[in-house]
Amino acid sequence: MVAGQYILPQLFRSQLNYLLRRGWQCAPLSSIVEKSQSEKHPSSNEFAITFDDGYSSVYKYAVPEICRRKITATVFVVAGAIGRINEWDYKIGDRQESIMSAQQVREISDIGLEIGSHTLTHPHLTSLDDQALNRELIDSKHKLEDIIGKEVIGFSYPYGDYDERVIAATAAAGYKYAVSTKLGTTARANVYEIPRVNVRWSAVGQLLMRKIARARQISE
Ligand SMILES: [Zn+2]
Repeated sequence: MVAGQYILPQLFRSQLNYLLRRGWQCAPLSSIVEKSQSEKHPSSNEFAITFDDGYSSVYKYAVPEICRRKITATVFVVAGAIGRINEWDYKIGDRQESIMSAQQVREISDIGLEIGSHTLTHPHLTSLDDQALNRELIDSKHKLEDIIGKEVIGFSYPYGDYDERVIAATAAAGYKYAVSTKLGTTARANVYEIPRVNVRWSAVGQLLMRKIARARQISE
């Protein structure tokens, strides 16, 4: 999390309502990724919601809104920080935020949200040696699978930091897709470089639509 990346609960609500009212359909990220690989023209008005890190605030504010609308989201959890705080940001001066407990992660998985991994300790993956890289990828996957009792197939690169070696290790660890922080849509995306639209506090209404239009242009 970075300054300017927090959004208020009412803004999240209005962004969701805005998209749904305009006929957008929320789908699980894994199914959108799967479709983007198999169809020539995946439905262009489908979107997936993702959250990185696994903050308690997501459990408290966003999950009820998601459930109320009977839609879903994917939460990429820093597995080694479960029940703790955002040490990786806090130590460089960001505010302290709590991360969901194992019970909360299990609960949101049970009600239909998808749980992905966001490593064990939120490092810059390209700076790790092979052994440490594999530990972050594999141990976090197993830890989350033990908690939710399901396979974890999605991964999110901390800081959007990855290269060819990281991609190869991510695939070898058994993940089926990984998300980056680059702007774009799933059309024609490599499954280990799925782009996203970073929804900031300022992106609402027409501004949000403009950002989505830019993402589409990039992915065309
Ligand atoms: Zn993160």
